[in-house]
Amino acid sequence: MKNPRRDSSFERVELEEGGEASCAALSPAAAPQNSAQNAAEPFLNPPQASALERFPQNLESLKAPQTQGEIQSPQIPQNSDSSFIKKSEKGFCDSSLGYHAYLPYYRSKSFVAPSAPLSAASGGKILWPAEIKAFDEGESFEAFIQPTLGKTPSSGLFGDVRNNGYRFHEGIDIKPARRDKKSEPLDDVRAAMRGRVALINKVAGNSSYGRYVVLAHENLDVPVYTLYAHLRSIDTLLSPSKIVEAGEKIGVMGRSASYSIAKECAHLHFEVGLMYGKHFQKWYDSKRYTSKNFFGNYNGMNLCGMDPLDFFYTAKSGGLNAGLADFIKNQKTAFVVRYYTQKTPDFANMYPALVDPIGQKCGWDIYFTWWGLPHKISRIKNPSARAKDGHIEIAEFDGQCVRHRCANFVKTDSSGRARPTENLKDILKKMF
Ligand SMILES: [Zn+2]
Repeated sequence: MKNPRRDSSFERVELEEGGEASCAALSPAAAPQNSAQNAAEPFLNPPQASALERFPQNLESLKAPQTQGEIQSPQIPQNSDSSFIKKSEKGFCDSSLGYHAYLPYYRSKSFVAPSAPLSAASGGKILWPAEIKAFDEGESFEAFIQPTLGKTPSSGLFGDVRNNGYRFHEGIDIKPARRDKKSEPLDDVRAAMRGRVALINKVAGNSSYGRYVVLAHENLDVPVYTLYAHLRSIDTLLSPSKIVEAGEKIGVMGRSASYSIAKECAHLHFEVGLMYGKHFQKWYDSKRYTSKNFFGNYNGMNLCGMDPLDFFYTAKSGGLNAGLADFIKNQKTAFVVRYYTQKTPDFANMYPALVDPIGQKCGWDIYFTWWGLPHKISRIKNPSARAKDGHIEIAEFDGQCVRHRCANFVKTDSSGRARPTENLKDILKKMF
């Protein structure tokens, strides 16, 4: 893997900046501007970095408190669910079951009858991005998900499905339907939705994604990206900033990567998700990685996926016909970060449909899934008058949801209070 190396001396950059108390006076909420910043991210050089494994691989043991301010985080016993979190039928947070918790959900979905073409109100069609028909024909995921070498098909699903749950898989791996005489895939890879070509990486060895393409779907109510990795070739007609229609060819399925993928495991790695922020380079520079960022804001470390299979099943059942906002906001919350700051994050400007602007100007409540996807953000409604600008706290968390081995964002101190980990602070730095 080509994850950039860290300079450990630089890891302790604090996000908290201190400053004057800012919440004592109540001020009217300001809605983030729905700016035109979404448009035209300058196309950046052929990329390199890898997002596939950007999550920590080891469960950091719970540490002593990293004291910050006097504000007390709620004391929630590990294993308990806090009441604000809705129980999900999907059971995605049951870490005791690991990825097997996904299976009943997928199995129930796989019996859905074939449906009309998928559609999203604002953006037209949503299409399966590869040739294999098993998904559209309602077969179980084993029929179209490519396992990693020697593993069950679950290993090609989204989530904590790799390395015994220690490594996060941020997309799904889709099987080929056709192969040439040498057994290499021949399948066309197609745009899942109409979108703008945001990134083309032609240099396979530069990234664990190999040759890959990122599309930005800026016509949607929530402008998600989709990512198509390990391509054998990229369509020659594809160029930066080109608008492609749903179903338009992007390239040919393959097994390109900065590491070796066995021929029998060739697949399309597909992602759909959100971007943390628009000033990723500033964060990257602060980390003093030894390798250059060739990918601009589309560096995998600045992207966070959601479950593509959940996305496609929801689309197929008509659940995305009114747009993506509800689907994303209704992802299960694992923890809520309260960040007292005068800043408005790029995230709120990029995704106004995920913003609740009602509240105080002194900061934000950011709702995260267990794997670190910020899926909604709200102005703070009940700020503490004592909180200083720069203060970060875990406002709420779900004990089950924060115990995944591959996602280390919340720790508890010796008194049982929840604290943000350095990984979580890194996400906030990318967002603010
Ligand atoms: Zn994959």
